[in-house]
Amino acid sequence: MIQSSCLFCFGLLAKCREGGLKPMDAEQLRENAHRMVDFIADYYKSIESFPVLSQVEPGYLHELLPDAAPDRPESLQQVLEDVQAKILPGMTHWQSPNYFAYYPSNSSIAGFMGEMLSAGLNIVGFSWITSPAATELEMIVLDWLAKLLNLPDDFLSTGPGGGVIQGTASEAVLVVLLAARDKFLSRIGKSSLDKLVVYSSDQTHSSMQKACQIAGIYPENCRALKTDASTNYALSPDLLNEVISQDISTGLVPFFLCATVGTTSSTAVDPLPTLATVAKRNGMWFHIDAAYAGSACICPEYRPYIDGVEDADSFNMNAHKWFLTNFDCSPLWIKDRNALIQALSTNPEYLKNKASQANMVVDYRDWQIPLGRRFRSLKLWMVLRLYGVQNLQQYIRNHIELARQFEGLVSNDPRFEVVTPRVFSLVCFRLLSPDNDGDKGNKLNCDLLDAVNSTGKIFISHTVLSGMYILRFAVGAPLTEERHVHEAWKVLQDEASKLLATVQNN
Ligand SMILES: *Cc1c(COP(=O)(O)O)cnc(C)c1O
Repeated sequence: MIQSSCLFCFGLLAKCREGGLKPMDAEQLRENAHRMVDFIADYYKSIESFPVLSQVEPGYLHELLPDAAPDRPESLQQVLEDVQAKILPGMTHWQSPNYFAYYPSNSSIAGFMGEMLSAGLNIVGFSWITSPAATELEMIVLDWLAKLLNLPDDFLSTGPGGGVIQGTASEAVLVVLLAARDKFLSRIGKSSLDKLVVYSSDQTHSSMQKACQIAGIYPENCRALKTDASTNYALSPDLLNEVISQDISTGLVPFFLCATVGTTSSTAVDPLPTLATVAKRNGMWFHIDAAYAGSACICPEYRPYIDGVEDADSFNMNAHKWFLTNFDCSPLWIKDRNALIQALSTNPEYLKNKASQANMVVDYRDWQIPLGRRFRSLKLWMVLRLYGVQNLQQYIRNHIELARQFEGLVSNDPRFEVVTPRVFSLVCFRLLSPDNDGDKGNKLNCDLLDAVNSTGKIFISHTVLSGMYILRFAVGAPLTEERHVHEAWKVLQDEASKLLATVQNN
């Protein structure tokens, strides 16, 4: 570089010697951020040219990057060239229209701009006083979303409850578990921690178990009740009743029930109204995890899936999954915000201020684990305003329709079967083993998953239900169109044909 006769390079070097980028010079920001937006737009333009699932080997990046940070500033151009050449190959492209794995994690122009604004303003809104707009916008936007989901008024900020944006569903279930735990312990005594029992199903997300580990719930008191195909993997209230009776008879204290609407493996929907009755009868905290499927409930025709939410103590959905809101944004509503505050508040001198002392404001630091918090409501607000309710509903309906089409394609090929009924935009299916052998069938589907994902053309994931290895096809990436779904099915059929040919030749 030093030897280069290119004037531009000399110019850059001169700039570097002056110190390069200033932390937040307005004109430098304008120029550099414009270039970054161009880079991102170009990425989206070419997103289909990358293998959806990254094909790199573990440790690949170590070979490509220096082992220490540079002493002198480099140029944005140099960094972007590295992103293009070294980082993008090591990415799995969640926003690709050919991404059908796990659950989606939507980006959108509105969500992106909200993130940009939040990053640009960069406030830390832990108390009302630290940025009143951050707290108040969050309350308003979560009231909007609560009304959109037709949640009971008890979840609105105008009563003793309210909504808060958590980073993830995992944090949401942890904070409500802590609230419920402390509510119970204040009644029955701190020494009774070993008596508290948590109920969920074996399909409940692993974040429930992690929350129990963190909250100090005794591992032997965490009930993951067995489900099976007879209820499409939904939690059985009869079984729940039975286990609760047993626990009470041995002196344990049932205190927390987590129901799921749209389980992670197969979108099972637990029977909320009946479960709510059981929870109420036993005085338990009733939490609903609708991380993925909650978004669909903004459509009146899918809203019945959360009937029973009226009797829940807390309800959570991930706007960052299927609601066009860039990661992370996990709205949580709670009926009794005091329970949360009791469990999570502290009152150090250095955070005292008049508004808080006078109890005139919400201080969201008492509703979450960290102190610091981002201005996340901006992106949710922008999504709601720039798309509007009708477009958001249309967005959900379109994905569900595409999943329905995929389900039809699978059903029409006798070599495959749909394993559980499709409810939202996830299809659980598998390739049938030619000789009906369970173990071979599992290996066959495992091999099919590897083969399909190795093509780089699509990315799907798997689960196991009742010992059966199952493929999951989740529609929900923002760029996915009908043609992508049909092409994905062709990839699956082609790879299945190849596999079946080798199996039959052996
Ligand atoms: C995705 C998912 C979670 C976990 O979400 P995070 O926001 O990543 O913690 C929890 N529950 C269900 C039902 C999910 O689908």
